[in-house]
Amino acid sequence: MVGKMSCIFCQIVAGKVPSEILYQDEEVIAFRDINPQSPTHLIIIPKRHIPSLADLSQADLPLIGRMVSAANELAKREGIFESGYRLAISCGEEGGQFVPHLHMHLLGGRRLSDALG
Ligand code: 5GP
Ligand code: ZN
Repeated sequence: MVGKMSCIFCQIVAGKVPSEILYQDEEVIAFRDINPQSPTHLIIIPKRHIPSLADLSQADLPLIGRMVSAANELAKREGIFESGYRLAISCGEEGGQFVPHLHMHLLGGRRLSDALG
């Protein structure tokens, strides 16, 4: 596992790597993806380093709700709340997770692919 100190998303949380931060509260932060796959492509993460969905404890589960709530708010701000959007969380190698810090993608702004995998 990549250590917390070398985690790119932890560095974004710490302000050590610049990013366009669009939302933050005590537990969650969101920023624009550096390599967008759609006109709106945001990344929503817990501030605390949790490697993946597979590492979530029972006590962490409310965090997912907070991330979804932030995503819904951001979809409104991005003007895609009515047209539609997709939230995606990849987990592990075959799930296509590259950054080992739990994150949710918010995608929208165009008709997204019908294929999920
Ligand atoms: P994954 O493939 O792990 O689900 O998604 C990781 C996402 O993080 C990718 O869409 C990638 O473009 C984005 N990303 C990786 N490094 C950075 C970075 O340093 N800054 C920002 N804003 N996004 C990043
Ligand atoms: Zn991290």
